[in-house]
Amino acid sequence: MSGETVAALDRVEVDYSARGRALGPFDLTLARGEVVALVGPSGCGKSTALRLLAGLESPTSGEVRRSAHRGETAVVFQSPTLAPWMSARANVALPLELAGTARGAARAQADAALARVGLAPAASARPAQLSGGMAMRVSLARALVTRPRLLLLDEPFAALDEITRRALADDLLAIWDEARPAIVFVTHNVEEAVYMAGRVIVMTAGPGRSAGETSIEAPMPRPEGFRTSAVFRDSVEAISGRLAAAMAPRP
Ligand code: ADP
Repeated sequence: MSGETVAALDRVEVDYSARGRALGPFDLTLARGEVVALVGPSGCGKSTALRLLAGLESPTSGEVRRSAHRGETAVVFQSPTLAPWMSARANVALPLELAGTARGAARAQADAALARVGLAPAASARPAQLSGGMAMRVSLARALVTRPRLLLLDEPFAALDEITRRALADDLLAIWDEARPAIVFVTHNVEEAVYMAGRVIVMTAGPGRSAGETSIEAPMPRPEGFRTSAVFRDSVEAISGRLAAAMAPRP
């Protein structure tokens, strides 16, 4: 595989025997440092595509190629999945400790990761003491602490209010700018997709195939006022139209 490709899905199809096909055929090639959004109707196979990219599942046919090894891939789900009995710091340090880093060093790196997401003051708090947005930040810090080359996000901000979502989108792009991992994220929110991704892929109703993709021709991280720019508005309109067509019942 080319050194510039972090992961690829080549003509993948996933069949769950009892329920028929869940995905595909679907292609996706992810270059180093690229940010790609997947949008599409519920049940079209977006999470399945992420699990293939994560190496958590194998396709029924087609090929998954990954140059990022398992330890270089991080996955963040919609609900933060933090251990409730552990502090934010201990939660973030856990992947490092599991990989063999000594506890003191792991916790120092966890503190640095929490600081990057603006949560240094909450390092000793337990998950129940955190708001939804703060818990998601801890989850992001835990994903980033191992400096992954591939970051997979499954509707990470779906449970949060609009203001928190926007703040987290900017945080995530700032963090992306430091280490430039390749990112694939799933969202139902077209504006979020256009704001965060360099490329937005619309999927058809299940079994999901590509209904087309749009490159967002603007700098990353996004410039001030990007949401009011013509590029932003035109991209949102084009993708929303494509999504509406993808969701319409097939004749
Ligand atoms: P999305 O993320 O786009 O909502 P999913 O990838 O979760 O879609 O699911 C795609 C399809 O596969 C759905 O019809 C879903 O019910 C089915 N599916 C997902 N995971 C499994 C599984 N482990 N076993 C059986 N069916 C599944």
